[in-house]
Amino acid sequence: MGTALFSSCGQTGEKAAASDTFTYEVDRFEDISVLKYRLPGFEQLSPGEKELIYWLSEAALCGRDILWDQNFKYNFVIRRTIEAIIDSYSGDRETEEFKAFITYAKRVFFANGIHHHYSNDKFVPGFSKEYFDALVMASDVSRLPLKDGETAADLVVRLTPVLFDPQLYAKRVDQSEGADMITASANNFYEGVTQSEVENYYGSLADPSDPRPVSWGLNSKVAMVDGKVTEIPYRSGGLYGEAIDRIIANLEKARDVALSETQKMELDLLIDYYRTGDLKIWDEYNVLWAGNTDLSVDYINGYIETYGDPLGMKATWEAVVDYKDIEASKRTGVITDNAQWFEDNSPVAPEYRKEKVTGVAARVINVAMLGGDCYPASPLGINLPNSNWIRTEAGSKSVTLANITNAKDIVSRGSGFLEEFALDQPEIERAVKFGSLSDALHTDMHECIGHASGKLAPGTDPNALKNYASPLEEMRADLFALYFMMDPKMIETGLMPSDEPAKALYDNYIRNGLITQIVRIKPGKDIEQAHMRCRSAIAHWVFEKGKAENVMETVKRDDKTYIRINDYMKLRTLFGEMLREVQRIKSEGDFEAGRSMIENYGVKIDQDLHKEILARYEKLNLAPYSGFVNPVMTAVSDAQGNITDVKIEYCSDYLGQMMEYGKKYSFLPVY
Ligand code: ZN
Repeated sequence: MGTALFSSCGQTGEKAAASDTFTYEVDRFEDISVLKYRLPGFEQLSPGEKELIYWLSEAALCGRDILWDQNFKYNFVIRRTIEAIIDSYSGDRETEEFKAFITYAKRVFFANGIHHHYSNDKFVPGFSKEYFDALVMASDVSRLPLKDGETAADLVVRLTPVLFDPQLYAKRVDQSEGADMITASANNFYEGVTQSEVENYYGSLADPSDPRPVSWGLNSKVAMVDGKVTEIPYRSGGLYGEAIDRIIANLEKARDVALSETQKMELDLLIDYYRTGDLKIWDEYNVLWAGNTDLSVDYINGYIETYGDPLGMKATWEAVVDYKDIEASKRTGVITDNAQWFEDNSPVAPEYRKEKVTGVAARVINVAMLGGDCYPASPLGINLPNSNWIRTEAGSKSVTLANITNAKDIVSRGSGFLEEFALDQPEIERAVKFGSLSDALHTDMHECIGHASGKLAPGTDPNALKNYASPLEEMRADLFALYFMMDPKMIETGLMPSDEPAKALYDNYIRNGLITQIVRIKPGKDIEQAHMRCRSAIAHWVFEKGKAENVMETVKRDDKTYIRINDYMKLRTLFGEMLREVQRIKSEGDFEAGRSMIENYGVKIDQDLHKEILARYEKLNLAPYSGFVNPVMTAVSDAQGNITDVKIEYCSDYLGQMMEYGKKYSFLPVY
């Protein structure tokens, strides 16, 4: 559950071939790569849609301080100190120690605090206590977050153990066995209370027989006040009220330009919830939001994910604004309009084709703004709301964030990856030029018509393929897409300018299936994941069947393995033959044939090849974690002050964006 979807059909991090002229990576430090994401099709949105996105985006940025404070009670004062040093330190900025300080600052900005965003461990500064003292003392004292009567030297004394003592506040979330998870965790959801006190408190509130329970504790801090366990709610006029009021002000502007009456009602409920902190209103809001699936602009905004609380109750603040990609939706429209033609002309045996096929309209969603706990480390998809009874009664929304996923894929394919594993320069150039289009079309064809095609023979048990059903189903959809990518119909309908994108897809698919996808597998292990088994089975099957005619071959150069495709049209024919066989297996429920296809071609890895590929991959030294800078939105107004357009600029300065947000979107008092 939750927003962190790490794979979804057709959009797993394996597909993108290469980058185009847009440079995605903007910064790199320690284990982090910072990227930017594009807003495809944003220009084609209506002025009303753009204005709604603009206000929702402002609301998405206004809660940043809330998250910083939730993560750790000293985060805010530390960030202010770091910002003051970066802006005003008068000493030498070219030294190794200053560079180490900047790296530390970048890590803290990325994690929204001094604990690693993924491991939860406190960062170890790469500079000394003495240097920290020198930095603070040589910075503008008026910029430092001093308490009343405090000097810069006092601030150093106060912060030094927090930053440098490895035992103090060591983990943001500590769930080790036997520990009091509340007192051991450095997060700021609780103050002066023990785990059992908190558990008793909520145990007395929750009614286990309630079929529609609210999310107890979601939006409050729990502290000991006058000897009593007390909830301090986040709301207007309460804890975090100054930031919440700014969120509300922007949500009100968004409400005024909402795209439908229900979206307006939905935003009204959200505003009401922020005002009152009433969790019943939060549930009402979520019921409405979950049912509102047809809008071209959508968002999440609230206290949503509970991973930061060891008890899994309190949620960090986060926001995403997203919109439907009109260009991409036009493309999927052309494909679904021709769904029957594809079905009638497929290489599948006529008795297993569908007489009447309806394509599935895929919703392609792009992110326009990330905020709070979704920034800079973004989820790849959204699957909300979290409340179980709402999911059961009102449904949930599950979408993949296409532009975020694509940027990650393209970068993981770039940064030397393609140069290392592609056969030659023409193959690299084809991938660079056509990779994005070929990936998008492959995904569309897979999702819109691949899964929708074909039918079972009368009497076939739909569960006959058991544990092989899922990789075989993915193969069917992939093969349908692979076969038709090389069809003249793709050019006739304007989906492709030439057959070059199809060749780029074939290069990439075969290279990935035979070689590169195994970089994710540990030495000695088999392939387990359904999408990976699918790709391995397809690539190995067509490789073997094409051997006699030399359709493809392996090439060894400097002890490195590469693949050369000699005949793309024959490869297409092989994809067609395999599609016919996989559809037959599914239509007849031929478990034995399905099993042997997966087991013989999809599971095992050649051990020598695996060693070679892992060694080559390791040398590329790719960062394990990535996140994003946001685009910059500027509203264009007419003489009356009405917003007529919204302009997008892509930011390439990670630290600059962090410093700007610190000035523009910081609303909470330090003390
Ligand atoms: Zn699929």
